[in-house]
Amino acid sequence: RSSAASDVYKRQAAYMEKHSDQSLIRLGIGDVTRPLCHFAVQALHEGADEMGRAETFKGYGPEQGYDFLRQAIAQHDYAARGVDIKPEEIFVSDGAKSDCGNIGDIFGVDNIVAVCDPVYPVYVDTNAMAGRAGSYQEELGKWDRLVYMPCVEENGFTPVPPREKVDIIYLCFPNNPTGAVATREQLKVWVDYANANGAVILYDSAYEAFITEEDVPHTIFEIEGARTCAIEFRSYSKTAGFTGNRCAYTVVPMELKRDGASLNALWNRRQCTKFNGVPYVIQRGAAAIYTPEGKDQTRASIDYYRQNAQVIREGLTAAGLSCFGGVNAPYIWIKTPDGMGSWDFFDLLLDRANVATTPGAGFGPSGEGYIRLTAFGGAEATREAVERVKAAL
Ligand code: PLP
Repeated sequence: RSSAASDVYKRQAAYMEKHSDQSLIRLGIGDVTRPLCHFAVQALHEGADEMGRAETFKGYGPEQGYDFLRQAIAQHDYAARGVDIKPEEIFVSDGAKSDCGNIGDIFGVDNIVAVCDPVYPVYVDTNAMAGRAGSYQEELGKWDRLVYMPCVEENGFTPVPPREKVDIIYLCFPNNPTGAVATREQLKVWVDYANANGAVILYDSAYEAFITEEDVPHTIFEIEGARTCAIEFRSYSKTAGFTGNRCAYTVVPMELKRDGASLNALWNRRQCTKFNGVPYVIQRGAAAIYTPEGKDQTRASIDYYRQNAQVIREGLTAAGLSCFGGVNAPYIWIKTPDGMGSWDFFDLLLDRANVATTPGAGFGPSGEGYIRLTAFGGAEATREAVERVKAAL
């Protein structure tokens, strides 16, 4: 099965070959375009200089991350929001993608997994690789052992617990691809379900930095009861432009136990066995974003993308399209006009507007009839893309 991402790439490449004179604007991929903030770059330089001096050289670091970064995370990402997370509960890693996939190592293959539909494909594919997803049902576009929770316009793109009992639940808010967020009340329902059923919530908060509205929870650990049922993933990729630098972290609370086993101890064991830590230099760069200057500079990049999201959302809504997300997230989830298929609308926008998007069907069966646009492009290209799409429609 070829992934939607590679199909998008192939169609874009075929298009470029046919139309070498046209300027394609790519609003499909989820990579950032703003450079690293100056303060992080300076810290990377200082870290590299330390590595070049015998007195400050560092070899293997702690697998869980350096204390200076774990302390900064506990203080700035959690204590500042009134949430008590201890440095020993934080595991620094080379990416939320790795962590979302690797976390499966601490769970048995007989666990029943629930995913949102549409979904970030990594949750589905890594469970398929582990043998936890069963067989792929070509005609349905689903795996037979995974429980798919449709996230559609009617439920505001936020699922409620399924009727069947599940053991592992992937939730991602702000969501990729729909841009939806969950309220405290909605998350409380999930936390209560997980505690009542012995399930574990794997909460992906890679886009937390894009939350703008006051009442939206920034972490699952704001919800009472989450410490006994949830693991949280965070990433510096979109927060601070670290997609090429690789740094993220996972929080596993001490109270989280299943069948008498501490999941913090199991994850620690997994990481120490298969991972030798994130480079010191990179962790210095990540820690710099918690300084007052670093915070201001990373905020400026997020604001830049947020402005793009607004341009897309408002421009395409005015053109008559139904647009969702893009307020607390860098993704805008757009309904295709007149019930058109995702791939047909993707082709139409590619051919008529020279704008590359991502077809919703690639994220799961409920993504059919939608496309995803991202706010990670340049401001001028984004404005131009919106004008071209309007003209094409
Ligand atoms: N989680 C979600 C929902 C994502 O969309 C992405 C990246 O696109 C990631 C995780 C990966 O983050 P990282 O770059 O830290 O591996």
